[in-house]
Amino acid sequence: MGINGTQMTMSIENVVIVGSGPAGYTAAIYAARANLQPLLVTGFQSGGIPGGQLMTTTHVENFPGFPDGVMGPELMDLMKAQALRWGTKLFEADVELIDLQRRPFRLKAAGSLIESHALIIATGASANRLGLPSEERFWGRGISACAICDGATPQFRQEDLAVIGGGDSACEEAVYLTKYGSHVHLLVRSKSFRASAAMVERVMANTLITVHWRTEVLDVEGDEWLSRLKIRSLDSKEEQNISVKGLFYAIGHTPNSKLLAGKLNLDSKGYIRTKEGRPETSIEGVFAAGDVADSEWRQGITAAASGCKAALAAERWLGENKLEKLIQRKDLEPAKAIMPQSFRATPEKDFKHDALWQSGSYALRKLYHESDRPLLVIYTSINCGPCHVLKPQLRRVIEEYEGKVLAIEIDIEIDQEIAEQANVNGTPMVHLFKNKELIKQWKGVKQRADFKKIIDDFL
Ligand SMILES: Cc1cc2nc3c(=O)[nH]c(=O)nc-3n(C[C@H](O)[C@H](O)[C@H](O)COP(=O)(O)OP(=O)(O)OC[C@H]3O[C@@H](n4cnc5c(N)ncnc54)[C@H](O)[C@@H]3O)c2cc1C
Repeated sequence: MGINGTQMTMSIENVVIVGSGPAGYTAAIYAARANLQPLLVTGFQSGGIPGGQLMTTTHVENFPGFPDGVMGPELMDLMKAQALRWGTKLFEADVELIDLQRRPFRLKAAGSLIESHALIIATGASANRLGLPSEERFWGRGISACAICDGATPQFRQEDLAVIGGGDSACEEAVYLTKYGSHVHLLVRSKSFRASAAMVERVMANTLITVHWRTEVLDVEGDEWLSRLKIRSLDSKEEQNISVKGLFYAIGHTPNSKLLAGKLNLDSKGYIRTKEGRPETSIEGVFAAGDVADSEWRQGITAAASGCKAALAAERWLGENKLEKLIQRKDLEPAKAIMPQSFRATPEKDFKHDALWQSGSYALRKLYHESDRPLLVIYTSINCGPCHVLKPQLRRVIEEYEGKVLAIEIDIEIDQEIAEQANVNGTPMVHLFKNKELIKQWKGVKQRADFKKIIDDFL
């Protein structure tokens, strides 16, 4: 047993990577190809989701190698597949504690104590919140920090919406939301944007967006769902209410470095200080990569590049200190990567009463009306990054029950009517049914154990 009742892992890792954004996965690809068999702790709920910030965006148009652009979640699925192909070990959990005072370094995550000679910190950054008086009450009931994840939900369709912020994210989200809402109010504290010229042009050219300069939000109001914002002009101090069904935050990010406060050198905003242009931190053997150590560039490609540097530096450091234990590969070329699958509704001819996982309205209707087995209905949407995280977790849960529970995936963009009837107010959302009765619902990404506990009780 380790500290605080944690379970010790059996062996000392060469290198543990914390975080699964572009920095973490790139570090993993390099470390795995160097036969170091890295352990990557993906993160789960604190500081973002597995795959990092790009899981919350749609088109990534500036990542080299994708001339027509690529969807953020798809790009991250590809990076993950590449890291796995070369032998990265993934641990889906949040790191809760890091002890840098002894060597090997120690980490605590989901009840396990992990020891490692080298560490790569790639924990990225998290979206800021406003801290409005009624924020908690309406969080997920009209307030969202991810327009891309939640914009397509029925409650926002053909409704007035608001975005708060003045940078690239705010502009992108305002433009994106005009696909779904009837009008978008963009609330900006200052008197100009901090966004790229191209983004500003797209906002100003869009007649469905009204920009409110020098404006702050005082609070949100509504009954079951958000219906009004109380806003105030910073110049005239005049207050007014605007009717909206959604408020989307795009007000910047804070580096996910709390775990390291007092343990590593951080700057005044919490970014990890590294040697100029290099991944080495103030402690030998600890390397940092990506947004957590970069207050300036904060891009997918810069994060990936710094992940590469961190892995190469860690490999070199382990070698110089004769600490690395290299794995022997049987085959020079590993098997092809397992590629992520995209949504495809199960056609009538392929439907089976006992298939573990099917998709679409036809399969849902058949099982809902005709099956006596518990049914998990998973509501997803194509651009929803958290759905990419949840689906493989749920697939494993369903497989473990060997047919006692069945799953149906519903894409809420394709089956809007079903989503409306089911009161889906964001994705991912999961409903557990038995004999047409709704037993339990979950919103967002949850641990497998959360689902299993309820299903076990119920079975
Ligand atoms: C809406 C939006 C759109 C964007 N669009 C683009 C774009 O088009 N092009 C572009 O290049 N960049 C874009 N960016 C920026 C880009 O997403 C980031 O620069 C990049 O993701 C940073 O990568 P990272 O690996 O440093 O961190 P992140 O992507 O933030 O990943 C951090 C990882 O660390 C994990 N983590 C955090 N805390 C812990 C913990 N305690 N234990 C374990 N793991 C933890 C998280 O779960 C996450 O997996 C966009 C960002 C946003 C928010």
